[in-house]
Amino acid sequence: METAFKSMSLFVKENRNPCILVEKDGTIVLANTLFKNKFSLHEDDNFLTRITVRQSLQDWYDILKNSEETEVVQMDNFAISIRDNVECLCKAHVFYSRDKQQAVVTFILPASEVDIPSSVYASSFGCVSKTILLVSREGQIMDVNHKVTSLFNMSRKELVGRHVQTIYRKLNTLKDDAERVYADYVRRLQTFGEAMLTGRFEKDPNDIKFFEIRSSYNMESDIYVVEVKDCTETEMLRKQLEHSGSLSTVGQMAASIAHEIRNPMTTLKGFVQLMEVTATGDTAKYLEVVDSELQRMEAILNEMLMLSKPTEEKYSEFSLGVLITKVLEIMKPKAMFESIEIDWQDSSFCNSMIYSNADKLKQVLLNLFKNAFEAMGPGGVLTLKLEKGPGEHSFSLTVTDTGKGMSELQVKNMFMPFFTSKPEGTGLGLPFVLKTMEDLGGSVAVTSQLELGTTFMLVFPVHCMQDVHEITHLPAN
Ligand code: ADP
Ligand code: MG
Repeated sequence: METAFKSMSLFVKENRNPCILVEKDGTIVLANTLFKNKFSLHEDDNFLTRITVRQSLQDWYDILKNSEETEVVQMDNFAISIRDNVECLCKAHVFYSRDKQQAVVTFILPASEVDIPSSVYASSFGCVSKTILLVSREGQIMDVNHKVTSLFNMSRKELVGRHVQTIYRKLNTLKDDAERVYADYVRRLQTFGEAMLTGRFEKDPNDIKFFEIRSSYNMESDIYVVEVKDCTETEMLRKQLEHSGSLSTVGQMAASIAHEIRNPMTTLKGFVQLMEVTATGDTAKYLEVVDSELQRMEAILNEMLMLSKPTEEKYSEFSLGVLITKVLEIMKPKAMFESIEIDWQDSSFCNSMIYSNADKLKQVLLNLFKNAFEAMGPGGVLTLKLEKGPGEHSFSLTVTDTGKGMSELQVKNMFMPFFTSKPEGTGLGLPFVLKTMEDLGGSVAVTSQLELGTTFMLVFPVHCMQDVHEITHLPAN
């Protein structure tokens, strides 16, 4: 008898399904861990009260009444409540010992109710393709998946146990108000159970990434699930939009200012011309100066208007090589005066035909050459190269100077309207270069090193390839 009970209790304990040993009246004598967990067993739990359907209860009594000592009876649709308000239909194997008046019941649960071992969850968490951290209520990192370790180049061991703020600090390196933003985020998280934060991570100055950090509190497990999402592409797109937005604002401003100034200027010009007819001596000389200054003002206004004008006008087909040579002609006196050498072999790449607005491109080149000259002292060299590629359908112009170069901050901001490091600068030269090149379907790239110099690379889409000698439409000077 004693051994029979021992073997029954061993059977219960070692069973790989939820399993119990019950008295005839339903009192649970023994339950294995699987049963305890799955059926949330409490004290004085009576098995019979768990049977939820009259038919199942009837089947149970039939087994107790009819079963032979040696056989295991299977009940196929045994209705039972697993825990409060959760019932399921399962299979139950019943072995009733007439002798001990006790039964061993093993439950075969439907697949939907079978608990997946936590080791399966743990290994699945490890290979999830999203970047996820599990954080305790106190803010300690409890686990991270492989995406986190590769993102921060830190092992799981190094991360687990640290305060999650280590991660936030890494992701907010350049924000001045990072601490305030973090405190605000924690407050939202504690109040609403979820919060979002954006951050940036700078592996090195050329590899900046933007992130969205979403946290939500999981009440059941009492932890925060933190997901880090790379949103660099979206952020870049947003910045580009913002930038083109500010460019068009500048354009609108330029247009309205030019318009306002042009009207009184036309009047002035008219009067000056009238006075010039009768003026003599010193007055004539002064009027000449006034006239030339007015012309200069007009030229500046035109430059500003360039920024705002839509590019539909005056498109033609021409050779960029020829245009460069023409623009360099304008720069030559200045180069000689400042002892700057210009290195440009027109023959290097002749078939540089493009379809574009020649006036605007002339202005682009002038802006770049002017900047290069302003960055160099006597002895400086301006090197121009026109080459095929990158790719089959484009060619590039590189403008290299041996000037003072730019700092990281300058490179970052140089395309922003009104950004200038010169006392007399307008900060409108490069925004014009960028806008024109983009309107053309091309692009601008820059590399610069302090004290060594700067290279601007303009990439043009090829309109057609044709030898330079056959060019018929040359841009007006
Ligand atoms: P501006 O010439 O009126 O300052 P730009 O838009 O032409 O405006 O240029 C913006 C800034 O970019 C300049 O003030 C300068 O700091 C920097 N920059 C542009 N080109 C060069 C260059 N070739 N070498 C060094 N710095 C340059
Ligand atoms: Mg300039």
